[in-house]
This record gives sequence, structure tokens and C-alpha cells, in this order.
Amino acid sequence: MTGRGTLLLAGLLAATAALPFGARALRGPPSPRCAVDGVPLAGAPVVRVEEGGVERSFCCVGCAERWLATTGAGPVRVVVTDSSTGAAVDAGCAWFVRSTVLAQPATGDRVHAFARKEDALRHAEAYRGSLLSGKESPFGGKVVRQEGDQSRR
Ligand SMILES: [Zn+2]
Repeated sequence: MTGRGTLLLAGLLAATAALPFGARALRGPPSPRCAVDGVPLAGAPVVRVEEGGVERSFCCVGCAERWLATTGAGPVRVVVTDSSTGAAVDAGCAWFVRSTVLAQPATGDRVHAFARKEDALRHAEAYRGSLLSGKESPFGGKVVRQEGDQSRR
């Protein structure tokens, strides 16, 4: 390759590498996205996992579980979004239902979290779902409850 060709290639590579940053600058500050697959968190049933003082957000229960399984992290603090109210709920106190309704269309996740058992059962009945318990329950055994948990009223 000639010197000119190498220079051109180097310039092209530099431009390609800078592309995402340029695009990001045009779009303004990046919106929060899932730590596993980059799905935007706006409107998603966000799951927050705190591990070793670092908090990560995920677009669905499935992504958070996938991340935990890959990293082998634990014990962790997990906060899920109540499907009924949108409020943050400690996963250790939440009820989970897998139903025919997509919780996160981007990933196909069908696990819904609820703060109240009545809401979970109502959803399960309405959408042919089942309450997840024991080994089926997401984050089973990995979750530690928040100190001074504020999700309980
Ligand atoms: Zn995700």
C-alpha cells in the first residue's frame, strides 16, 4: 500500500470511529438505555440492579436476569417497576407474573412485576398468566432487601 493509501485509510478509520460521537452530539444528551441490549428505558418496565455500589438499569426482568447470570453477580439489590402504578418496588417484596401480554416488546419479555398480590393475581387471571414462585421467581435467592425499604406503604 502506498503512503497516500495508508493515510487515506487511517483518515477513514478515524472518521468512522468518531461517527457515533458526532451523531450523539447532534441528538443531545443520550437517553437512558438498557445495560444489556441498549433498548431505551423510557416507558419500559425498568429494573434497577445495584451491585457493588454500581447501579445498572435494564429494560425488562429478562435483561436483568440475563445480566446477573452472565456476570455471576450477587447478592444484589433489585428494584422493579410495579406494572399497576409504575412505582419502584423492591424485588424481594414484589410479585411476578408471566402472562400472554408482552412486558417489553423489544425483547419479548412477558414477566410483569407487581407491588400487590391482588394486582398480580388479577393480571394473571385476565391474561392467562401464572404467578411465579420459588425457583421460577426472578432473581430468586440473589435479592437482598433494601434497608429501610420505602416501597412498602
Ligand atoms: Zn434490555
